[in-house]
Amino acid sequence: MAPSATSDIAPEGEYKPKHIEDRLFINGEFVPSISGKKFDIVNPNNEKFAASVYEAGAEDVDLAVKAAKEAFPAWSALSATDRQGYLNKLADAIEKNVTEISYLEAISMGKPYIGDAFNMFGVQILRYLASKALDVSGDSSLNTVGHVNITLRQPFGVCGAIIPWNVPLLMFINKVGPALATGNTLVLKSSEKSPLSVLAVARLCQEIGLPKGVLNILSGFGRPCGEAIAKHMEIRKVSFTGSVLAGRAVKKAAAESNLKNVTLELGGKSPLLVFPDADLAKAVPAAAFSILANSGQACIASSRVYVHSSIADEFMEAMKTTMVHMGKSGDALKAGTQRGPQADKIQFDRVMSYLNYAKDNGLKMPIGGGREGNTGYFIEPTIIANAPEDSKVMKEEIFGPVVCINTFTDEAEVLDRANDTEFGLYASVFTKDISRAMRVAKALEAGSVGVNCTSPTMAVDLPFGGWKQSGDGRELSKYATDFWTELKSVFIAL
Ligand code: NAD
Repeated sequence: MAPSATSDIAPEGEYKPKHIEDRLFINGEFVPSISGKKFDIVNPNNEKFAASVYEAGAEDVDLAVKAAKEAFPAWSALSATDRQGYLNKLADAIEKNVTEISYLEAISMGKPYIGDAFNMFGVQILRYLASKALDVSGDSSLNTVGHVNITLRQPFGVCGAIIPWNVPLLMFINKVGPALATGNTLVLKSSEKSPLSVLAVARLCQEIGLPKGVLNILSGFGRPCGEAIAKHMEIRKVSFTGSVLAGRAVKKAAAESNLKNVTLELGGKSPLLVFPDADLAKAVPAAAFSILANSGQACIASSRVYVHSSIADEFMEAMKTTMVHMGKSGDALKAGTQRGPQADKIQFDRVMSYLNYAKDNGLKMPIGGGREGNTGYFIEPTIIANAPEDSKVMKEEIFGPVVCINTFTDEAEVLDRANDTEFGLYASVFTKDISRAMRVAKALEAGSVGVNCTSPTMAVDLPFGGWKQSGDGRELSKYATDFWTELKSVFIAL
């Protein structure tokens, strides 16, 4: 179920979309922003202009909320099968147009577009979530004498969603799928770094005849657009994916406005533990792929590796070779490219600042440590060895192809170190000892744990989300719809 580096879905060779949509999608129509303001997207592969799109402000959020509010009664009154039908039609349309969608992501945030496995995984997720429309149901109880009591699960009404740029379509689907399946209507803001692909999906919504106003898509910045969604008095729930910093701002804005329900999918600093009996032929490529996939721009990337000292040298040598040779880097639009650039100059500078910190503090970097090439925002696959546990590179999310590798000797002690973080998104352990695997899986403080595998391994039917400051709420699985419904108790006296 894990997305692999590439698949054969899209045809090879350069592709050009007929048209790049630059407007907002409100009430089923494409419209310019009220202010008329636009912002530019720079292609991170070559640092050239890629597109310019309309920027939504608070007044555009108001319009989108109005449309979503008007659409809510009819949409929520549809049968679940009808809502499922629309979402399945949308999944089919996305699958048919996946080359265009992936291309638009490649020119805006640099993810290789040919055979984009993340986006095909998104299609699978949407079909799964569409089926969950039929499973939104409550409980019954005979425990009160003279009563049959029941619970109902009902939509919130108008909801908001704010998504990041690293896997735009996947993030979009994780919000749109359960929100619409449960009968809510939605105002979604894409990331200012990658607004293009979800605007292509907006066109597909028109093509499949999704009722007007059910899904509204805005391009814009955290402030003012994201903030206006988080503060809006008529939005009853907001689902956010992004950094801890912005997640905290969203929760604060929700608290200070109408105390709307908030779910958060935030960052990670995921530990991967390698015990002496681990199968290194599996552990090494899994660890390397985890940090190189999507150029390290994954919340679940195994960015802290703890390897037992008895196998540390062998592991390090194998990691050096594997990371250097895994995944051909280059222009995300070229056939054969498996690793693209960082998403933009801001992300590139951010990763470089951690590499400079490592250099300035005399940390060992057995491979990498700098820029790759002279054009585009490429970073070399990098290992930082034996960094102090309290150093910035061990504590903060770098969000690049940069892994920290440290050694350990004792299980209890490495668990303390692995859990000594405010993040808790994903963790993994490689060992052939089943008792140790289960003991460690239980002890790791994370929403997902890989045993003899690591991220991006996940499954549509298992919940995904974070412990501690990695988030609040779950996506995917039968639990996803719970977070998009209000619960009501109904007491029926007989
Ligand atoms: P970000 O927090 O900078 O931005 C995310 C979104 O929030 C964007 O749409 C942005 O415009 C918006 N935003 C920013 N400030 C805001 C504010 N004050 N109010 C409302 N909205 C605001 O994150 P990013 O750089 O886009 O994405 C990378 C981060 O996302 C990483 O930390 C990564 O770990 C995390 N992430 C988490 C998951 C997950 O499922 N847990 C998945 C992907 C990415």
